[in-house]
Amino acid sequence: MSDANIHASEHPLVSHKLTKLRDKNTNPKKFRELIREIAGLLAYEATRDLATRPIDIDTPLEPTNGFELRQKIGLVPILRAGLGMVEGIWSLMPSAEVWHIGLYRDEKTLSPVEYYNKLPVDPTVSVCMILDPMLATGGSAVATVDILKRWGVGRIKFIGLIAAPEGIEHLQEHHPDVPIHLAAIDSHLNENGYIVPGLGDAGDRQFGTA
Ligand code: URA
Repeated sequence: MSDANIHASEHPLVSHKLTKLRDKNTNPKKFRELIREIAGLLAYEATRDLATRPIDIDTPLEPTNGFELRQKIGLVPILRAGLGMVEGIWSLMPSAEVWHIGLYRDEKTLSPVEYYNKLPVDPTVSVCMILDPMLATGGSAVATVDILKRWGVGRIKFIGLIAAPEGIEHLQEHHPDVPIHLAAIDSHLNENGYIVPGLGDAGDRQFGTA
């Protein structure tokens, strides 16, 4: 596992909020709020290398110059657990486009199968951030990067909350160019594919379907 492209946040706000998120007594309303907040904090760290271009503006006092983001950004939540991460990041970059990708795991082959993808033929963004709270086996993440690369996106980042080492390894093996931004790296996957200690099922806990 190469470390250069793995960014596990050490920000105290992230650790504090992640601990509340893991707590089984945290209710769905609070859980959604925490996912939104942590996603925003991780995106802040993940976007520090985005390109800007200089622009001229007028303040109420005089003309000056500043910067604007140069590239069009796409947020790509993997359905359904990634949905809760969108709002916290979108509020920081409201002109980003949001493109949903739906994948489920085939019970026989255990491989991800695409069931929702409305990407147009030509790419409309040049940087994509894939959003999925749990990087477990890495199967969905690899499949989503495959889809975005086929679409023609030049730069792709993965933003998750918790990863298992197995998921990181799988994603890095297939797409070593994709940086992985996380709140924490946990111990392992259990026999049911859950990250340990993790937080349980991120979809069920957001949507109250446990
Ligand atoms: N998906 C989840 O929601 N939780 C896990 O622990 C692993 C995958």
